Amino acid sequence: MRILQVAAELFPYVKVGGLADVMGALPQALRTEGADVRLLLPAYPALREALGALDPAGSLGPFGGAGEARLLLGRTGAGIPIYLLDLPGLFDRPGGPYVEQGDSHLRFGALSWAAARLGRQGDAHGWRPQVLQSHDWQAGLAPAYLALEPGARPATVMTIHNLAYQGRYPAAVLAELGLPASAFHLHGLEFHGDLNFLKAGLVYADRLTTVSPTYAQEIQTPAQGEGLEGLLAHRAADLVGILNGVDPDLWHPARSPHLPMHYAASRPSGKKVCKNHLQRELGLRESPAAPLFGIVSRFASQKGLDLVLENVDHLVALGGQLAVLGSGDPDLESAFRTAAARHPGAVGLRIGYDEGLSHRVIAGSDALLVPSRHEPCGLTQLYALAFGTLPVVRRTGGLADTVVDATADAMAEGRATGFVFEAVNGWALGEALNRACALFRDHPAAWARLQRTAMAQDFSWRASARRHMELFRVLLHP
Ligand code: ADP
Repeated sequence: MRILQVAAELFPYVKVGGLADVMGALPQALRTEGADVRLLLPAYPALREALGALDPAGSLGPFGGAGEARLLLGRTGAGIPIYLLDLPGLFDRPGGPYVEQGDSHLRFGALSWAAARLGRQGDAHGWRPQVLQSHDWQAGLAPAYLALEPGARPATVMTIHNLAYQGRYPAAVLAELGLPASAFHLHGLEFHGDLNFLKAGLVYADRLTTVSPTYAQEIQTPAQGEGLEGLLAHRAADLVGILNGVDPDLWHPARSPHLPMHYAASRPSGKKVCKNHLQRELGLRESPAAPLFGIVSRFASQKGLDLVLENVDHLVALGGQLAVLGSGDPDLESAFRTAAARHPGAVGLRIGYDEGLSHRVIAGSDALLVPSRHEPCGLTQLYALAFGTLPVVRRTGGLADTVVDATADAMAEGRATGFVFEAVNGWALGEALNRACALFRDHPAAWARLQRTAMAQDFSWRASARRHMELFRVLLHP
């Protein structure tokens, strides 16, 4: 089965968030299941350089005023064939994948358009996908381009990694993108008077997926539907939630290349070394007895970090420590700076993006805080489980699907893996912190049992890839 995966991020080359991790792992897992998988991404300079040898793989014709769209074909480090969309006017520029110069609609319109072209006509060597999977809004127009023109086309799947980002632009860009005005209506491309890339994908794709079963339900409600709940409820029969997995070569305490010492469930002592190292690295008091709570996160309101800020004094009063790695919203950055300055030795902070430190925070902490308002799947809590670091999470999206709260029953049954709270407020998180600190201090054997259960969880990409393959098979042979 020939599958084209279209996205704007790819670990380890171009990463902003979890999407990159998924794109770095899912294609290999699909290949292991027997699929012939290829990727399509923009020819970002960082990607071009990292991939090395690239061969011309055909031209797709001109894209609006942006010039001739060419395909280059290379291979990722893992050996997956990857097409780069070469449109220098749009993609040959410094900065991250989403650096804004007022033409993002053209950049990702071009990506979607190129995916559709490749889907319909194939590359210069005759490779043509049977299934096209669009990831997030940047690839959202591809199903629309395919559905709005007659002729044979691949089956299409639209995957939502985060409904909060939709790609909304004024209706005037429709013509620039070569989309028909006749499709600009409530049941097509239009969303409150604008063009909406993600909505287009959700309307025109044959099937819809998102990254956890709970999120698949939540996005059909006004509270989490971001204005698209009606459409998603209407398409509920075509919508499925498939959990992301963890790359076990990367996110494993016995294999991560970033730790001062490896460990595993059967030989856990290295985790103490990781904790001590992290305390030193972030200027925290070197105390094995202090429960150490980690955060590795984008600083965005979605992530609920304001609830953590409300609890910093409380956590420190409990004798706890905080190790924070993240960046984003300037107000959150400055609030964490203030908290770190107020509690030297108890709150350690690194503002920025640091892959190595992210492993050391997750390995060295006793617990990881993920108090998200909404969380489609969430990866850091899965990494934490693998590292025997107990997640403290809000019951939402993939967090609800992957962490089992340490209730008396769940602990007695050996199912508990972390601490879960419901309400989006500082008090609810504070109560979860109380429970975590009490268990850590007063019941070390019970804590160790939770760690073992956490480390035994299997969130493999294989399960995810098999669910995808089932979906694709049904699509191709209804
Ligand atoms: P989202 O995609 O919403 O950001 P996820 O939990 O799905 O959330 O994925 C986040 C990914 O980004 C994880 O791999 C996490 O380790 C990584 N990450 C987030 N912030 C940082 C940071 N400051 N430094 C390094 N990695 C980070």
